[in-house]
Amino acid sequence: MPPTPQSIAERRAAYAAELAQGTDRFHEPRRDDCPWCGSRRLRTRLVTSDLVQRKPGTFVVDECEDCAHAFQNPRLTAEGLAFYHRDLRDLRGDALEGLVVRLLGARAARGRHHAAARAMLRHTEPESWLDVGTGHGHFPAAAKEVHPYTAFDGLDATRRVVKARAAGRVEEAHRGRLTDSRIAERLRARYDVVSMFHHLEHTADPREELRAAMVVLRPGGHLLLEVPDPDSAFGALLGKWWVSYGQPRHLHLMPLPNLLGELEALGCAIVATDRREPHIPYDLAGALALALGHVLPDLDAPWRSAPPAPLQRALHAALTRASSPLLATTSALDHALAPLLRRTRFSNAYRIIARR
Ligand SMILES: [Zn+2]
Repeated sequence: MPPTPQSIAERRAAYAAELAQGTDRFHEPRRDDCPWCGSRRLRTRLVTSDLVQRKPGTFVVDECEDCAHAFQNPRLTAEGLAFYHRDLRDLRGDALEGLVVRLLGARAARGRHHAAARAMLRHTEPESWLDVGTGHGHFPAAAKEVHPYTAFDGLDATRRVVKARAAGRVEEAHRGRLTDSRIAERLRARYDVVSMFHHLEHTADPREELRAAMVVLRPGGHLLLEVPDPDSAFGALLGKWWVSYGQPRHLHLMPLPNLLGELEALGCAIVATDRREPHIPYDLAGALALALGHVLPDLDAPWRSAPPAPLQRALHAALTRASSPLLATTSALDHALAPLLRRTRFSNAYRIIARR
């Protein structure tokens, strides 16, 4: 029998019970050294809250003054990450918060996947390709149109990858983490290409993830990475309203030189880097949507202690409706500026292709 969906009252009670214990337990102890280079010269780059769902809690992004690595500190535990990720997709029904969720999903757009798949064409004709953090398998499905003779497999920590296989988007579904040695051993030296799109920033230890990628790549195989660029000028311009900060879900933001250095230390040759194509035109609309969400009356969410009064609910709906033309204009501006901005320091993401 399928599980009965919980009523909003039941979900509100469940959240209330969880939140009664406070949110401190969702954080690991704060660290006083850089997880990338060990330096103790840290500065606070950002203090923010959960601006998308507006669940309780405060998040800090520290930056290393020696290597410029940025990271969530204190970091969320696995339980904390699950708490803040839960019910994110429920917001899609709401005009404003739904826009933010859709903007966050914009990196998964088909055209961007095609461009990334084509970037690999110049370097190799792979027979086997593993997409790590594949989710529903949208990247393999799009990349298959560019590489029709390649067998695409997917790996993801969630059961979305199993659905991706059922939908025919991947040939093999591997559920779990690449850093799980049983998975890495089973897939040892099997792949011509391993890809990770906006995946490393979500992992507890990006370097461990890269080492695991080396295990499953054949000698001479290619690794394709795309991640947000913490050096983007949008970060300084927009501060906590910059969607790429992605708090509380992004644990690490790595400057390009750090990832290049790490890949070289692993014995890789850097084949290509690109800041232009991976730019995602959503910075201004994302910032506006987050800021509007901050000033509009509270949404009806099960983690609020009480449902909004009818007047608040009506006001939220009316103001959201009123702001939607402005959001649409801002989103159009993001797209209009993209051809220019992607050539400047405003590009918000970068790609690396490295050969093992
Ligand atoms: Zn450092």
